[in-house]
Amino acid sequence: CGIVGYVGSQDTKEILLRGLEKLEYRGYDSAGIAVVNDEGVQVFKEKGRIAALREIVDEQTKATVGIGHTRWATHGIPNRVNAHPHQSRSARFTLVHNGVIENYEQVKRSLLSGLSFVSDTDTEVIVQLIEKFVETGLPVEEAFRKTLQELKGSYALALIDQENPHVIYVAKNKSPLLVGLGSDCNVVASDAMAMLQVTDQFLELMDQEMVILKKDSVTIKDLEGNVITREPFTAEIDA
Ligand code: GLU
Repeated sequence: CGIVGYVGSQDTKEILLRGLEKLEYRGYDSAGIAVVNDEGVQVFKEKGRIAALREIVDEQTKATVGIGHTRWATHGIPNRVNAHPHQSRSARFTLVHNGVIENYEQVKRSLLSGLSFVSDTDTEVIVQLIEKFVETGLPVEEAFRKTLQELKGSYALALIDQENPHVIYVAKNKSPLLVGLGSDCNVVASDAMAMLQVTDQFLELMDQEMVILKKDSVTIKDLEGNVITREPFTAEIDA
């Protein structure tokens, strides 16, 4: 029911957990985070409260890029397997999603026929489809865009790639999502409240836009790949 992502130079797990705590008011049944560094991706997820998630997050984990999620189950019961983040078959790609993919069954039957799924969620088709398009030879950004073009429904998405641990791919359609511009970091979340710990400068996102989020750059594009320029605004909210 809420997502958060951080790319920067600080320890991401604490920023993600604090961000998720700020999204708690939206309601949820499970929560999870994934962090990525040169050694690979680590996923921690749990049914229940953020406090329960905190307990299983490995203190030793050191990473400066990561994504997080609080889930309000729409497809698949609330349990650990259905909790986000979800991973592609090879575990190269890891995704969090807020919203509902209305045509997930058709996508499973057509573009992903023959593939077995780990969870009962609508979300898993997104991350499997990205990997499938990458396997056909597309660069990740194009595979991401091509996937978005196949989806019907609502989404706020954040994706990380084990082979490029410096980028978060983001997309929005009919679910709330904002980018936060930090110094030496950039963030994304469903609500500005989750990002005030890092910045009060935000970029609004429109439906059917994607973002390439790096530590020192934010690029917004439409689903055809055209770059969109947008001015940031300053939020006047007390953290
Ligand atoms: N439809 C997805 C699921 O059931 C995401 C739900 C949400 O927005 O939290 O897992």
